[in-house]
Amino acid sequence: MARKVLVLEDESSIRSFIVINLTRAGYEVIEAETGEEALEKLKDNSDIRVALLDIMLPGIDGFEVCRRIRATNTRIGIIMLTARSQEMDKVTGLMTGADDYVTKPFSPAELTARVDALYRRAGGGGPMEQPGEIYQEPFLLNTRNRTLEKNGQRIKLTQVEYSIMKMFMENPGKALSREEILDMVWGRDYFGELKIVDVNIRRLRLKIEDNAQNPTYINTVWGYGYKWGF
Ligand code: CA
Repeated sequence: MARKVLVLEDESSIRSFIVINLTRAGYEVIEAETGEEALEKLKDNSDIRVALLDIMLPGIDGFEVCRRIRATNTRIGIIMLTARSQEMDKVTGLMTGADDYVTKPFSPAELTARVDALYRRAGGGGPMEQPGEIYQEPFLLNTRNRTLEKNGQRIKLTQVEYSIMKMFMENPGKALSREEILDMVWGRDYFGELKIVDVNIRRLRLKIEDNAQNPTYINTVWGYGYKWGF
């Protein structure tokens, strides 16, 4: 299941900057240049969970788009993209329907963090997380019966593979060295070689990645270790 985000921005350079970074962070980005187009695309993609709305636009402005979205949709997360020159009093006063705002220029890390936070709050479009479960679309890890599902399908794991998945899902986006992984999964007393980490991760990729040759969930951090790519 794709994690869909809408980006409404009329300036193509800013729009492509956002698209590149959100795509890299694992989102499927629906683009719109005008407010009218954004509202059309939202109608066609009811599974969009977060919308980023520029304010100054040709045609209806971002505030109006926000109002119209909120009139029918209370669940979607809305982030306004504001310019530094805009008076913040006015922006915050008008953005009653929005959840957050980001001031341009923003860094990729800041943008992704804001979208991630809102996406999680918006429910992620999947099953709600229960105690004893870690849900990171499309994966659901059940820590009570030690099972993993991807898109609702059970994936059979060895105990070591399960421990690696749990470690990754508890540390999303964090680069973990092979030594740390060895310690966390096999324990500090383990006298094996670091290669065992690579062997298990290669096998785990075959089970959980869409394409193990081009992994998107377990990413290699060259010369260091691995990172869970959310
Ligand atoms: Ca603009």
